[in-house]
Amino acid sequence: MFEPGEIISYLEMCAEEQASLQRGMNFRLPSGRTVILMSRRANAPYVDRIEDEGRTIIYEGHDVPRAPGLRDPKLLDQEATTPTGTRTQNGLFERAARMHHDGDEAELVRVYEKLRTGIWVFNGTFALTEAWTEPSGGRRVFKFRLEVTEAPEAEDGVSTALRSDLEHTRVIPSEVKITVYQRDRGKCVLCGATDNLHFDHVLPYSRGGTSLRAENVQLLCARHNLAKAARIE
Ligand SMILES: [Zn+2]
Repeated sequence: MFEPGEIISYLEMCAEEQASLQRGMNFRLPSGRTVILMSRRANAPYVDRIEDEGRTIIYEGHDVPRAPGLRDPKLLDQEATTPTGTRTQNGLFERAARMHHDGDEAELVRVYEKLRTGIWVFNGTFALTEAWTEPSGGRRVFKFRLEVTEAPEAEDGVSTALRSDLEHTRVIPSEVKITVYQRDRGKCVLCGATDNLHFDHVLPYSRGGTSLRAENVQLLCARHNLAKAARIE
Protein backbone atom coordinates (compact mmCIF):
# COMPACT_ATOMS: atom_id res chain seq x y z
CA MET A 1 0.00 0.00 0.00
CA PHE A 2 1.49 3.31 -1.06
CA GLU A 3 1.75 6.31 1.22
CA PRO A 4 0.55 9.64 -0.13
CA GLY A 5 3.57 11.41 -1.65
CA GLU A 6 5.27 8.14 -2.64
CA ILE A 7 6.93 8.12 -6.06
CA ILE A 8 6.42 4.96 -8.08
CA SER A 9 6.89 3.54 -11.55
CA TYR A 10 4.04 2.94 -13.94
CA LEU A 11 4.44 -0.82 -13.45
CA GLU A 12 4.33 -0.55 -9.66
CA MET A 13 1.14 1.49 -9.97
CA CYS A 14 -0.46 -1.15 -12.21
CA ALA A 15 0.66 -3.96 -9.90
CA GLU A 16 -0.85 -2.19 -6.89
CA GLU A 17 -4.17 -1.65 -8.67
CA GLN A 18 -4.12 -5.10 -10.33
CA ALA A 19 -4.91 -3.51 -13.68
CA SER A 20 -3.17 -2.32 -16.79
CA LEU A 21 -4.08 1.33 -16.34
CA GLN A 22 -4.54 3.08 -19.66
CA ARG A 23 -7.42 5.48 -19.06
CA GLY A 24 -7.56 8.42 -16.71
CA MET A 25 -10.89 7.47 -15.17
CA ASN A 26 -11.42 3.99 -13.80
CA PHE A 27 -14.68 3.57 -11.91
CA ARG A 28 -14.56 0.37 -9.85
CA LEU A 29 -11.88 -1.72 -11.44
CA PRO A 30 -12.22 -5.51 -11.10
CA SER A 31 -10.45 -5.03 -7.74
CA GLY A 32 -13.41 -2.88 -6.67
CA ARG A 33 -11.27 0.21 -6.40
CA THR A 34 -11.92 3.47 -8.19
CA VAL A 35 -8.74 5.03 -9.59
CA ILE A 36 -8.02 8.33 -11.26
CA LEU A 37 -4.87 9.28 -13.13
CA MET A 38 -4.16 12.97 -13.41
CA SER A 39 -1.52 15.08 -15.04
CA ARG A 40 -0.86 18.76 -14.64
CA ARG A 41 2.08 18.77 -17.01
CA ALA A 42 2.11 21.37 -19.77
CA ASN A 43 0.99 18.91 -22.47
CA ALA A 44 -1.74 17.28 -20.35
CA PRO A 45 -4.98 16.70 -22.26
CA TYR A 46 -7.30 17.78 -19.43
CA VAL A 47 -7.50 20.71 -17.04
CA ASP A 48 -7.16 19.26 -13.56
CA ARG A 49 -6.64 21.55 -10.59
CA ILE A 50 -5.43 21.22 -7.03
CA GLU A 51 -7.23 23.72 -4.81
CA ASP A 52 -7.87 24.67 -1.22
CA GLU A 53 -4.18 24.37 -0.28
CA GLY A 54 -4.07 20.78 -1.44
CA ARG A 55 -7.26 19.48 0.16
CA THR A 56 -9.35 19.42 -3.01
CA ILE A 57 -8.79 18.24 -6.56
CA ILE A 58 -11.07 19.42 -9.36
CA TYR A 59 -10.83 16.74 -12.01
CA GLU A 60 -12.04 17.26 -15.56
CA GLY A 61 -14.22 14.62 -17.20
CA HIS A 62 -13.19 12.85 -20.35
CA ASP A 63 -13.98 13.53 -24.00
CA VAL A 64 -15.95 11.30 -26.33
CA PRO A 65 -13.59 8.87 -28.06
CA ARG A 66 -12.04 9.94 -31.32
CA ALA A 67 -13.84 8.26 -34.23
CA PRO A 68 -13.80 8.47 -38.02
CA GLY A 69 -16.37 10.92 -39.36
CA LEU A 70 -16.66 12.64 -35.97
CA ARG A 71 -15.46 16.14 -35.19
CA ASP A 72 -12.43 16.69 -32.98
CA PRO A 73 -13.50 15.41 -29.51
CA LYS A 74 -12.12 18.65 -28.01
CA LEU A 75 -14.93 20.50 -29.84
CA LEU A 76 -17.71 18.19 -28.62
CA ASP A 77 -19.60 18.16 -25.33
CA GLN A 78 -18.40 15.52 -22.90
CA GLU A 79 -21.04 12.82 -22.52
CA ALA A 80 -22.55 10.89 -19.61
CA THR A 81 -23.78 8.10 -21.85
CA THR A 82 -22.59 6.38 -25.03
CA PRO A 83 -24.72 6.38 -28.20
CA THR A 84 -26.05 2.97 -27.13
CA GLY A 85 -27.16 4.34 -23.76
CA THR A 86 -24.60 2.84 -21.37
CA ARG A 87 -22.87 5.13 -18.89
CA THR A 88 -19.48 6.51 -19.78
CA GLN A 89 -16.86 6.99 -17.06
CA ASN A 90 -18.23 10.54 -16.72
CA GLY A 91 -21.70 9.07 -16.20
CA LEU A 92 -20.50 6.52 -13.63
CA PHE A 93 -18.66 9.15 -11.59
CA GLU A 94 -21.59 11.57 -11.90
CA ARG A 95 -24.05 8.95 -10.65
CA ALA A 96 -21.83 8.15 -7.66
CA ALA A 97 -21.60 11.86 -6.80
CA ARG A 98 -25.37 12.22 -7.06
CA MET A 99 -25.91 9.17 -4.81
CA HIS A 100 -23.56 10.75 -2.29
CA HIS A 101 -25.60 13.94 -2.49
CA ASP A 102 -28.67 11.84 -1.70
CA GLY A 103 -27.04 10.40 1.40
CA ASP A 104 -24.83 7.49 0.30
CA GLU A 105 -21.23 7.18 1.43
CA ALA A 106 -18.92 9.03 -0.91
CA GLU A 107 -17.05 6.92 -3.46
CA LEU A 108 -13.39 6.65 -2.44
CA VAL A 109 -11.02 7.46 -5.27
CA ARG A 110 -7.32 6.68 -5.37
CA VAL A 111 -5.51 9.43 -7.23
CA TYR A 112 -2.19 9.10 -9.06
CA GLU A 113 -0.42 11.95 -10.79
CA LYS A 114 2.07 11.70 -13.61
CA LEU A 115 5.40 13.38 -12.94
CA ARG A 116 7.08 12.36 -16.16
CA THR A 117 6.95 9.42 -18.55
CA GLY A 118 6.83 6.23 -16.50
CA ILE A 119 7.04 8.07 -13.17
CA TRP A 120 4.01 8.68 -10.99
CA VAL A 121 3.19 9.87 -7.50
CA PHE A 122 0.37 8.56 -5.31
CA ASN A 123 -1.59 11.64 -4.23
CA GLY A 124 -3.77 9.76 -1.76
CA THR A 125 -7.37 8.58 -1.33
CA PHE A 126 -10.09 11.14 -1.95
CA ALA A 127 -13.86 11.27 -1.54
CA LEU A 128 -15.91 12.04 -4.65
CA THR A 129 -18.29 14.68 -3.33
CA GLU A 130 -19.67 16.58 -6.32
CA ALA A 131 -20.10 16.47 -10.10
CA TRP A 132 -21.27 19.16 -12.50
CA THR A 133 -20.87 20.35 -16.06
CA GLU A 134 -19.61 23.75 -17.09
CA PRO A 135 -18.93 25.59 -20.35
CA SER A 136 -15.36 25.39 -21.61
CA GLY A 137 -14.27 26.78 -24.97
CA GLY A 138 -17.69 26.51 -26.59
CA ARG A 139 -18.63 23.07 -25.26
CA ARG A 140 -19.63 21.46 -21.96
CA VAL A 141 -17.21 19.51 -19.81
CA PHE A 142 -17.67 17.52 -16.62
CA LYS A 143 -15.98 18.52 -13.39
CA PHE A 144 -15.60 16.31 -10.32
CA ARG A 145 -14.74 17.48 -6.84
CA LEU A 146 -12.45 15.15 -4.90
CA GLU A 147 -11.78 15.94 -1.26
CA VAL A 148 -8.90 14.59 0.72
CA THR A 149 -9.90 11.91 3.20
CA GLU A 150 -8.26 10.40 6.20
CA ALA A 151 -10.25 7.20 5.86
CA PRO A 152 -8.01 4.27 6.74
CA GLU A 153 -7.52 1.97 3.80
CA ALA A 154 -9.33 -1.34 3.83
CA GLU A 155 -6.78 -4.15 3.88
CA ASP A 156 -4.29 -2.20 5.94
CA GLY A 157 -5.25 -1.01 9.39
CA VAL A 158 -1.64 -1.01 10.56
CA SER A 159 -0.46 2.52 10.12
CA THR A 160 -3.73 4.40 10.51
CA ALA A 161 -2.18 6.63 13.14
CA LEU A 162 0.68 7.51 10.81
CA ARG A 163 -1.68 8.15 7.94
CA SER A 164 -3.88 10.51 9.89
CA ASP A 165 -0.83 12.71 10.46
CA LEU A 166 -1.51 16.15 9.06
CA GLU A 167 1.42 15.60 6.75
CA HIS A 168 -0.70 13.30 4.65
CA THR A 169 -3.85 15.35 4.38
CA ARG A 170 -2.65 17.81 1.75
CA VAL A 171 -1.54 17.29 -1.79
CA ILE A 172 1.64 19.08 -2.78
CA PRO A 173 0.91 21.29 -5.81
CA SER A 174 1.98 19.77 -9.12
CA GLU A 175 4.39 22.57 -10.02
CA VAL A 176 6.17 22.08 -6.69
CA LYS A 177 6.41 18.32 -7.18
CA ILE A 178 7.80 18.66 -10.68
CA THR A 179 10.30 21.35 -9.61
CA VAL A 180 11.49 19.31 -6.63
CA TYR A 181 11.82 16.10 -8.64
CA GLN A 182 13.99 17.87 -11.21
CA ARG A 183 15.99 19.85 -8.66
CA ASP A 184 16.80 16.71 -6.62
CA ARG A 185 17.42 14.75 -9.84
CA GLY A 186 15.10 11.91 -8.85
CA LYS A 187 17.33 10.94 -5.89
CA CYS A 188 17.17 10.92 -2.10
CA VAL A 189 18.91 14.12 -1.03
CA LEU A 190 20.66 12.25 1.80
CA CYS A 191 21.93 9.04 0.20
CA GLY A 192 21.30 9.31 -3.54
CA ALA A 193 18.96 6.29 -3.64
CA THR A 194 16.68 6.32 -6.68
CA ASP A 195 13.98 3.90 -5.51
CA ASN A 196 11.20 4.09 -2.89
CA LEU A 197 11.27 7.88 -3.00
CA HIS A 198 8.83 10.15 -1.19
CA PHE A 199 8.12 13.84 -1.25
CA ASP A 200 9.08 15.05 2.21
CA HIS A 201 8.38 18.36 3.93
CA VAL A 202 11.62 19.79 5.29
CA LEU A 203 9.64 21.55 8.02
CA PRO A 204 6.51 19.43 8.64
CA TYR A 205 2.97 20.81 8.40
CA SER A 206 2.51 20.10 12.07
CA ARG A 207 5.28 22.63 12.73
CA GLY A 208 4.03 25.27 10.34
CA GLY A 209 5.85 24.12 7.21
CA THR A 210 4.31 24.71 3.81
CA SER A 211 3.95 22.54 0.72
CA LEU A 212 3.41 25.57 -1.47
CA ARG A 213 7.12 26.31 -1.93
CA ALA A 214 9.69 23.95 -3.41
CA GLU A 215 12.22 25.16 -0.79
CA ASN A 216 10.27 23.26 1.87
CA VAL A 217 9.93 20.01 -0.09
CA GLN A 218 12.62 17.43 -0.83
CA LEU A 219 13.04 13.86 -2.03
CA LEU A 220 13.83 11.23 0.58
CA CYS A 221 14.12 7.45 0.22
CA ALA A 222 11.84 5.27 2.37
CA ARG A 223 14.63 4.65 4.88
CA HIS A 224 15.43 8.30 5.42
CA ASN A 225 11.75 9.24 5.36
CA LEU A 226 11.05 6.77 8.19
CA ALA A 227 14.12 7.82 10.13
CA LYS A 228 12.94 11.41 9.96
CA ALA A 229 9.38 10.52 11.03
CA ALA A 230 10.76 8.65 14.04
CA ARG A 231 12.87 11.67 15.01
CA ILE A 232 9.89 14.01 14.86
CA GLU A 233 7.72 11.77 17.04
ZN1 LIG B 1 18.10 8.08 1.52
